[in-house]
Amino acid sequence: MRAVIIGAGIAGLAAALRLRQAGWETLLVERAPERRRGGYAVTFGGIGYDGAERMGILPELKRRSFVTRELVYRKTKGERRFALSGQTITAAMGKKAFNILRGDIESALYETVKDATTIRFGTTITAVEQDADAVHVTLSDGTVEHADLLIGADGLHSATRALVFGPEENYRLDMKHRVAVYMMEERPAELPVGTTGSISAGGRTFAVISVGDDRTAVFFGYRTDPSQGKPSLEEVRAIYNDMGWLVPQALEGLETADSVYFDSISQMVVDRWSRGRVVLLGDAAWCVTLFAGYGSSLAVGGADLLGAALERHGGDVPAALAEWEAHLRPEAEKKQKLGRRVKGVYAPPNPLLLELTQLPLRLSSWGPVRRMVERKFQLEG
Ligand SMILES: Cc1cc2nc3c(=O)[nH]c(=O)nc-3n(C[C@H](O)[C@H](O)[C@H](O)COP(=O)(O)OP(=O)(O)OC[C@H]3O[C@@H](n4cnc5c(N)ncnc54)[C@H](O)[C@@H]3O)c2cc1C
Repeated sequence: MRAVIIGAGIAGLAAALRLRQAGWETLLVERAPERRRGGYAVTFGGIGYDGAERMGILPELKRRSFVTRELVYRKTKGERRFALSGQTITAAMGKKAFNILRGDIESALYETVKDATTIRFGTTITAVEQDADAVHVTLSDGTVEHADLLIGADGLHSATRALVFGPEENYRLDMKHRVAVYMMEERPAELPVGTTGSISAGGRTFAVISVGDDRTAVFFGYRTDPSQGKPSLEEVRAIYNDMGWLVPQALEGLETADSVYFDSISQMVVDRWSRGRVVLLGDAAWCVTLFAGYGSSLAVGGADLLGAALERHGGDVPAALAEWEAHLRPEAEKKQKLGRRVKGVYAPPNPLLLELTQLPLRLSSWGPVRRMVERKFQLEG
């Protein structure tokens, strides 16, 4: 059995690994000329954790994970408001979750699968045809690949989805926020190693995260309204220009960073994830957004379950896809709902909402409550 997988992000690499383990031959097609660098910090857990364990990559992911020693909430100019200890953060995440850079998940998957799959960089998908027995995929290098399954793991703006399922507008739910993230060249001296600083005010959130070994991730996330034009660096500069502390330095770094993730935040609401022998996986299928904090976990967990369903159904690809979707859809939809709820409080637009939103966090930074939170989560695992 053979699969063509479009996109070598977390979903595509995880699918290549799991399908190889199921005995499939795989071809990964990646638009970028080489592997992406950098990324941003994510919390990885849930079905991603279980899937990674079954696929045998959990130890490698854990080795690359990092622990936050302290999360400090600051005022607009940088004065300290309150802080959560590393112990509280770890306890609240639970035992089966950890923090890791998105790029480090990709690296762990890539290193594990690279010798077992063919990867074609600098290539994209241009046309798809299918019949009862096979799917025929035309690529931008002029080749036509024949396979039993085509997996569209090409992210939020999936070309596979556009070709087979229809235009992005049919599925996109605009969450009315934008996000810009990148890795800083050097950790600013004001940010102790292993700590995170965060400022939230007037519908804007800024965070700077020191990742153990002196790598530093920067995050800007802010509300937008429909009248705002296309995302631009000038827009970010104008929106954050009254903030102090590390914000001016982070804005400067944004201009020169070699790799920036900058996009509007949208969910993908796709009624059916497969059409015949074509299936969508990861953000291409369900993008739950950073508000749910679960997209990379769903990508790995979804790939693992897909491989297992294909294994169970032998040559009957459509039956495997139907079973896989029935199993996974409730989890993805639950996280989409969570994302829509969190959207309202992620970057609170006014001081009152900010105080209300952060009250539970503020309380859990207070000794007696902190100990209670830590005990509760430790008991629940
Ligand atoms: C700021 C931020 C914070 C987040 N925090 C969390 C978190 O805490 N926890 C969590 O679990 N998730 C989190 N997420 C979500 C998570 O990062 C994504 O859900 C996950 O990376 C999606 O992986 P993917 O492989 O589906 O898509 P992508 O990462 O978008 O990968 C798609 C790949 O396909 C390639 N590609 C695109 N188009 C084509 C084409 N036409 N042809 C060939 N290749 C193509 C791209 O170059 C890329 O390599 C966060 C996301 C953001 C932006």
